[in-house]
Amino acid sequence: MDALKESACKAIDEASSKLHKLSQEIWKNPQLNFEEKHAHRVLCDFLDENGFSAERSYKLETAFRAVIGDKGPHVSVLCEYDALPEIGHACGHNLIAEVGIAAGLGIKAAFETAGKPIGKLTILGTPAEEGGGGKIDLINAGAFDGMDASMMAHPAPFDVAEMAALAIETVTVTFYGKASHAAAFPWDGVNALDAAVMCYQTISCMRQQFRPTWRVHGIIKNGGAKPNIIPEKSVMEYYVRAPTMLELATLKEKIVSCFESAAKGTGCTVEYKFARPYLNVLNNMSLVRAYKENLKLLGGELPSKPASEKDNGFSGSTDMGNVSYIVPSIHPCFYIGSDAMNHTRAFTEAGGADKAQPFTLAQGKALALTAIDIFNKKGLLDRAREDFEKDKAASAQS
Ligand SMILES: [Zn+2]
Ligand SMILES: [Zn+2]
Repeated sequence: MDALKESACKAIDEASSKLHKLSQEIWKNPQLNFEEKHAHRVLCDFLDENGFSAERSYKLETAFRAVIGDKGPHVSVLCEYDALPEIGHACGHNLIAEVGIAAGLGIKAAFETAGKPIGKLTILGTPAEEGGGGKIDLINAGAFDGMDASMMAHPAPFDVAEMAALAIETVTVTFYGKASHAAAFPWDGVNALDAAVMCYQTISCMRQQFRPTWRVHGIIKNGGAKPNIIPEKSVMEYYVRAPTMLELATLKEKIVSCFESAAKGTGCTVEYKFARPYLNVLNNMSLVRAYKENLKLLGGELPSKPASEKDNGFSGSTDMGNVSYIVPSIHPCFYIGSDAMNHTRAFTEAGGADKAQPFTLAQGKALALTAIDIFNKKGLLDRAREDFEKDKAASAQS
């Protein structure tokens, strides 16, 4: 390992206990989409205390950034830190924040060893990944302008260097009927709950014709007020996912026909509203290869657990997908020493356990080393840009 990379790893090792304390502080105080004030404060305080200068509430109230260097390739490492309702940090975003900050410390140490910044680093705090689309707001506000590469790493039950993240659109569907006494004058009512139930069943029947990579899942949020009132209103929420935006458009058309047929069949009217999409992740393969080589360079002292065929490469969705269409990006997922799956209480425990720490620090190092390659390795960024253009062109056609 060269001197710059060695200094990055050393700085991360030396900071290990305070990095652990930082992610524990976030883990113990889970906060939802756009409400991550505590996490925002402790992350910015940490940066200020460790030689960075944090810009608090950068473009969004709970976003932040810290920048060092002003010339050369511009790399960003992203921190997520939002939690889930009721089950806390069940997606392990406290560890994503720790990875991002650790990588930042490592890159800063490498700049110091080099005697000057050999590129430009932005540590970017991106709130509200769990449905809020914080990165979309940051993209729209210009936070990613001028960047050459962007990286983050996400905890998972296994290691995947290229995450198969699906494009997603969420939709709220409201059926309107007419209230009436359910026993005395039922013929006078129009039952909006029946429309929701029919809609649910029709979508479920249609699944046999779905491609194996499509995902549609929904709930009934409101099914009426009281059994003796014919429900005049029902509300459903659905998530609709597919590997590309083009496939998603096909799938959406099928789903919308289920909303409309359920309304028609029950005599209701229907309104539906799709939220802005999370795009599929374009894994930049030149950067993925550099990341994998750096993991190897770190010696593989940790037990890794590769994703099996049946794990499907972790087919969630993330607003990092939107970033990956703006700037060459990687979004590896990493094992944290537990078989627990994301969005479960067991995963919340795993993300707060001491056992997760060596895996998390290794990811901080792997991202720091990959950034050093982007700054130093001739041609890597050119190859990454070529991949980026090719991937974007291909996704417009499939
Ligand atoms: Zn999640
Ligand atoms: Zn997550």
